[in-house]
Amino acid sequence: MKRQLTKMLGISGVIVKSQKQLENTLILEIENNSKTALCPKCQKNSYRLHQNHYFLIKDIPWGEIEVLLRVNRRQFKCDNCSKPEA
Ligand SMILES: [Zn+2]
Repeated sequence: MKRQLTKMLGISGVIVKSQKQLENTLILEIENNSKTALCPKCQKNSYRLHQNHYFLIKDIPWGEIEVLLRVNRRQFKCDNCSKPEA
C-alpha cells in the first residue's frame, strides 16, 4: 500500500512513510529518500542532520477525500563550510 501511494504521488526520491485517515482527510507523511544532501556551496555531501522541518501541504483531492502531505524536510549541515542547506 505504501509503495503504491509513493508511486501515485509520482515525486521522485520521495517516499510515503505513513498514512493516517481522519474522516474525509487523508494525511500522508512523506520524506525525502536520500540520507545525504549535496551542499549548494561546495558541492560536497554532508551527512550531519541539522534539523527536521515539518510542514503540511494540500494535495489534489482524491474524489471526496482531501489529501494533506506532511513533509519532513530535513536539513543537513555541511561539514565543509558549515552552512545549512535551504
Ligand atoms: Zn559546503
